[in-house]
Amino acid sequence: MAGRVCVIGGGVIGCAVGFELRKRGLGVTVLDKNGEVGHGSTSASCGIVRRFYSQPGMTAMAHEGAQIWGDWAGHLGPIDEELAVFRRTGMAFVLPELTDELRERAVKMQEIGVPARILTAEELQERFPWLDVASQYPPRSIDDPAFLDEGEDRRPIGGAVYEEDAGYVVSPGLATHNLRLAGEREGVRFLLNREVRSVSEGGGRRFTLELSDGSTVESDVVVNAAGPHSGRVNVLAGVTLPLKTRPLVREVHALDNPLRGTPRGQTLPIVGDLDAGVYFRPESADRALIVGTTDPPCDELEWIDDPDTARTNLSQRYRERQCLRAMRRFPELTLGPMRGVVSLYDVTVQDWYPIVDKTDRAGYYVCIGTSGSSFKTAPVLGALMAEIVTTSEAGRDVDAEPIQLELPRIGHTVDTGFLSRRRGALESSDTVIG
Ligand SMILES: Cc1cc2nc3c(=O)[nH]c(=O)nc-3n(C[C@H](O)[C@H](O)[C@H](O)COP(=O)(O)OP(=O)(O)OC[C@H]3O[C@@H](n4cnc5c(N)ncnc54)[C@H](O)[C@@H]3O)c2cc1C
Repeated sequence: MAGRVCVIGGGVIGCAVGFELRKRGLGVTVLDKNGEVGHGSTSASCGIVRRFYSQPGMTAMAHEGAQIWGDWAGHLGPIDEELAVFRRTGMAFVLPELTDELRERAVKMQEIGVPARILTAEELQERFPWLDVASQYPPRSIDDPAFLDEGEDRRPIGGAVYEEDAGYVVSPGLATHNLRLAGEREGVRFLLNREVRSVSEGGGRRFTLELSDGSTVESDVVVNAAGPHSGRVNVLAGVTLPLKTRPLVREVHALDNPLRGTPRGQTLPIVGDLDAGVYFRPESADRALIVGTTDPPCDELEWIDDPDTARTNLSQRYRERQCLRAMRRFPELTLGPMRGVVSLYDVTVQDWYPIVDKTDRAGYYVCIGTSGSSFKTAPVLGALMAEIVTTSEAGRDVDAEPIQLELPRIGHTVDTGFLSRRRGALESSDTVIG
């Protein structure tokens, strides 16, 4: 096949794609407008690695990802840098109701080797006595005067799905830098501080990319891995997809961990609370907790069109709705000063799952719409993108015959057609929790 690839975007996705393409023998250049890799939305990622998804293919890919994060040194090979750490804390998915579908989901997770189990409200309370297991469902809007009302019946949550070995990667930015070094060792070239301004035909190869410093790069293949700028890069390339990606504003707030320094503090798991509409996990060597949202339907979504003018200041509105919900679940939490991060998701608006595919423009591929949950699967999506590129460039039609991706660490094969641009919207709960 033709051998020169430009990957637009040096976030965790672009670096993972570049590494995998290079391992398959292609000449790879990763381009980023920032001065270092991993300084886009990846830098704000909570790095949570869990397998609780409604799509079985996603569960399997996330489980493969978990094995890779657990053997990061083995995945990368030798590099001269401290490695990102995968800290396994366990993760509880708190559910308003334990439906048959959720029980089946837990069984399917177990079938591929995820140590997931159902906990009743009492079992969850016994294991984590600091949790208040009263249901908050359905979460109310912050504008609702009854936002903080306890409700009269104080019924308990339906239960939880607990992933014993889930956890988080302590520094997503460092993990991305690790990928850069592993890529460079194999021969990936990184061109940083250069924004791709146009993607046109011509030159000696299929594509000529014009960069912000006035230079150009030619390539046979272009991969769009531009995160929240993915839609813009598609416009530069003149490519329209049947599914649309769009930037969505996110805030993650930090609160002091009241259990720090106590034996209880050492067993703090990640909590993905679909009953209350928040998630939280320990941070900064357990000094803090960070709190994000699972996008309950009562909260408006802050879609934007121009990622370059996105706000960077934290808002009182997000702080209150996220932190107050977390404080009801974990009553020892207190509010304290406002701190956290503002960033962007790149969301496939129809179903919140990534699009990893070729496009109708020959040689132009996308690994986009990674919304809020593709850090964990980045090494696997990188491998999938590399398979799609090499297979398509070798002449096979991956639309007609989607890649059957082998997941060697968990001994499973996934039909990856569910990540195609032509899939039609997948069944989804319109949240990153899937
Ligand atoms: C707040 C938050 C919390 C999250 N939490 C989790 C989590 O707990 N678990 C999980 O699995 N996932 C999580 N995610 C999702 C995950 O972090 C993202 O899916 C992933 O980091 C996206 O990586 P990316 O490489 O696609 O995008 P980015 O990191 O944004 O990288 C894209 C890069 O493209 C560059 N770029 C864009 N346009 C151009 C151009 N024209 N020319 C050159 N360069 C360009 C940008 O500078 C940027 O560096 C979270 C995301 C956010 C925002």
